[in-house]
Amino acid sequence: MNRRLYDKLIFEHSHPGRRGHSLPRNDFGRHIDELPESCRRKDAPRLPEVDEPTVVRHYTNSSTNNFGVDTGFYPLGSCTMKYNPKINDELAASPSIAPLHPFQPSSTVQGALAVYWQLQRYLSEIGGMAEFTLNPFAGAHGELTGLLVIKAYHQSRQDNGRDTVLIPDSAHGTNPASAAVAGFKVVDVKSLPDGTVDVDDLRSKLNGSVAAMMMTNPNTVGMFEKNIPEIARLVHDAGGLMYYDGANLNPMLGIARPGDMGFDVMHINLHKTFSTPHGGGGPGAGPVGVRKGLEPFLPNPRVIKTPDGTFDVVSEDSSLGRISGWLGNFTVYIRALAYILSLGAENIAKVGPLATLNANYVLNRLKDVYELPIAGPCKHEFVFDGLKDKSTGVTTLNVAKRLLDFGFHAPTIYFPLLFHESLMIEPTETESRETLDSFIEVMRRIAAEAASEPDTVIQAPHDTPVSHPDDTEAALHPVTTWKDLCDKLNS
Ligand SMILES: *Cc1c(COP(=O)(O)O)cnc(C)c1O
Repeated sequence: MNRRLYDKLIFEHSHPGRRGHSLPRNDFGRHIDELPESCRRKDAPRLPEVDEPTVVRHYTNSSTNNFGVDTGFYPLGSCTMKYNPKINDELAASPSIAPLHPFQPSSTVQGALAVYWQLQRYLSEIGGMAEFTLNPFAGAHGELTGLLVIKAYHQSRQDNGRDTVLIPDSAHGTNPASAAVAGFKVVDVKSLPDGTVDVDDLRSKLNGSVAAMMMTNPNTVGMFEKNIPEIARLVHDAGGLMYYDGANLNPMLGIARPGDMGFDVMHINLHKTFSTPHGGGGPGAGPVGVRKGLEPFLPNPRVIKTPDGTFDVVSEDSSLGRISGWLGNFTVYIRALAYILSLGAENIAKVGPLATLNANYVLNRLKDVYELPIAGPCKHEFVFDGLKDKSTGVTTLNVAKRLLDFGFHAPTIYFPLLFHESLMIEPTETESRETLDSFIEVMRRIAAEAASEPDTVIQAPHDTPVSHPDDTEAALHPVTTWKDLCDKLNS
């Protein structure tokens, strides 16, 4: 951001002495100005001096410079950016929930513990698992937790040589990262041209050192792993366990269960499938489910229902220990439970088919102008390998940026790594036919522009408040606060 834009955002409306606040008296009836001289700062802070309406307008206008699923279509593959019903947020913010403290005695938070317990039961049913912990804070954190459960399981059997985790080359980057953090070696398993796991390659990599195989199903190219029963049998025969990355549970919700496919451990990204807004990177929750026999290793603390019907928080010695400070991100559980209860079993089973229908609709209306490396039909998402006509010089990045000019969020780009120009689209079940049609129209228009006026696409976006930030600099030295910005401008 340049100095001019910064001043515009922060100091344009500043006038010396102008105020938008009046501080209350403190508990002793004293005004803040009566602070002893020795406790006051020597120099005034460098802050804009503005009145209240100016502050309100500044933040309200700034908020409209951002993009969210509440302002427009968000076809971001892999992350399931579905619309999140507002009633979930309302419940999570309710005055009987928001002020709860983790260290309150169990007897004073019976309702909250009932929510935790009930959600564990529903997720176990949906995943086909024996038990769940809700404690992990995100999908990646759930992966780590699940892998530590697997490690504890092998150790409990004195099966100590299992130091390897097999991961398909189409997997999300968090899979190998989590395996490494859990202390495992990672071995890639190849994909076939249709995007699914190459069973022969898997077979050649199975041996007594394999602790687990991690899989995403449908996988990251939106294909259902049809050989899953055979894969599970092979891995189990070799003494390994099957880990299910539940980030793509959405299309299977209420229809097919990882537990029935032979998975032993799984996580669910509640912020994706179960509707918590997560555009800014959180908060999230990555509950982990396990099949019967693995429950003893789940993290502490746990919520149990006692024989007299009340709820309690307990710790078990067999556990792998703590993975989070207490019981995780509670308000995400409220949203998930509200989402499950408001849909009900019947409507939950409609989520997947509608998401799949929407994805295939978009795929079929665009595949003549965008390169489709893996022929459909897909599940909830699909991947183009850039534009079909590669002679224009227009890349996937350019297409993604040009979409912003038309009020659409960009799809996921350059992931999965299987293709050079990956453009990954997941419309989700919550979008109308009209929204999909206007997205399709714009995608086709961009393809046409790429041929007739490629520079328009290459130089896009033209209409956004920020157009071409330096991605590397932003990642290395993120400027996320006003003070960061001051430091940067002063340096
Ligand atoms: C999002 C995602 C993850 C990681 O989940 P987070 O909640 O972002 O940590 C893992 N695998 C896949 C396939 C994903 O899409």
